[in-house]
Amino acid sequence: MTLWPLMFSLSVVNMKKTPLALAVCILSTPVMGFAAEKIAADMVITNGTVLTMNPNRDIIENGVIVVKDNKIINVGDKTTADKYKATKTIDANDGIVMPGMINTHTHAAMTVFRSLADDVPDRLNRYIFPLEKRMVSEEMSYLGSLHGSIEMAKGGVTTMVDMYLFEESSAQAVKQIGLRGIMTQNIIRFPTADGKDAKETIARAVSFIEKYKDDELITPGFGPHAPHTVNKEDLETIKTLSDKYDVPVSMHVAETEKEFNRFKEQYGMTPIEYLDSIGLLNKRFIAAHAIFVTDSDIALMKKRDVGVAHNMVANIKSAKGISPALKMHDDGLRIGLGTDGPMSGNTLDIIGQMGYVAKLHKLANKDRSVMPPLKVVEMATIGGARAIHRDDELGSLETGKLADIVIVETQSTNMQPIFNPYSVLVYSANAANVDTVIVNGQVIVENKILKTFDENKAREMMQTFSKKVAEIAATL
Ligand SMILES: [Zn+2]
Repeated sequence: MTLWPLMFSLSVVNMKKTPLALAVCILSTPVMGFAAEKIAADMVITNGTVLTMNPNRDIIENGVIVVKDNKIINVGDKTTADKYKATKTIDANDGIVMPGMINTHTHAAMTVFRSLADDVPDRLNRYIFPLEKRMVSEEMSYLGSLHGSIEMAKGGVTTMVDMYLFEESSAQAVKQIGLRGIMTQNIIRFPTADGKDAKETIARAVSFIEKYKDDELITPGFGPHAPHTVNKEDLETIKTLSDKYDVPVSMHVAETEKEFNRFKEQYGMTPIEYLDSIGLLNKRFIAAHAIFVTDSDIALMKKRDVGVAHNMVANIKSAKGISPALKMHDDGLRIGLGTDGPMSGNTLDIIGQMGYVAKLHKLANKDRSVMPPLKVVEMATIGGARAIHRDDELGSLETGKLADIVIVETQSTNMQPIFNPYSVLVYSANAANVDTVIVNGQVIVENKILKTFDENKAREMMQTFSKKVAEIAATL
């Protein structure tokens, strides 16, 4: 009798295609002998165009993905569903089924400051640092990260790499929404709201790491702000501790020409060479931006196996420059896409980045054939997983990987017609086309509705807090 739920769900799918199929399905039900051989599963996704992003980059038309617990246990054509008896069936309704996207660099908590002082020169010192000094608290970090996590979840981001103050409070929000987070505690040499100096924030990071080290969704780590804003001896401590705890280090690197020139003058080294001299460049290191890097820096980053976060929208909005991300991708570096914080790039979904990544690299190279959509989707998925050294379990839809899956609907006018799904995703889709989001086998967004938190409540909390932000901002 337990066969019925699957039969019913399959017939629903078939009914849309042909009434004959439904009839065949119903007629086949007396053959209960085969039923016992069906394999139990938690979820079957049917009727979608599956972009596997596996090593062959296989696309399966009318494909099926089977999930049990938090893992993908099968990926195949439409007949695959027949082998399973699932608790839940999701009809993708001809949508694009893809791996969850990975945002390799952000500061989710900063959503509370979004749209403030957008185009002011030297904004970091004039607005961001003074605002943070007066406004950042555990409450702000939680609230901003909650809001940011909702935006990411609804935009198809399933994993983020975050760096901020009071990072443990951010982690609580990320976990509540049900996303994966590589959450790195910010460390900087100035006094901040969460520590009087780097030593205090390093201690804060260690306590956070010890508490969350074995968490299923949260990977805690160190977030030294940048090579020029953290003292060398503190970077050495971070290097030693990241080895000891085997945790990630995320850092802004080679973000401005000024930073590059400063290190050349002061140390006779590029920022990348300087960090390597401290021993920080290794498989735990995620370099955000990496705009001002030489060819030998790129070779060194590859040799040291570091990850790179390419934040195109934030980089061009701040007029900093276009990173050699195309060369890094083609040279085989571990490179993914990032949004940077919502005061820099303003949005937190990765779909919104993809079109800019494709188009700006074409413009910079004066060649429309470079950075085709497939490369961009690679960076958004498996590339991001490689950048965080989790490509053995994330970034593609393959048997044995963690069940982080996104369905992008194709019923909206902007999504039709579809001759090339990668082109549609990169050039015409937007975050609002994301229909279903699954993280670690749990459905957190379904039919475009967040299931893990009341979105109206989150908005009201933000609106209340923003009144306080406006009062402080008016005094700067
Ligand atoms: Zn940043």
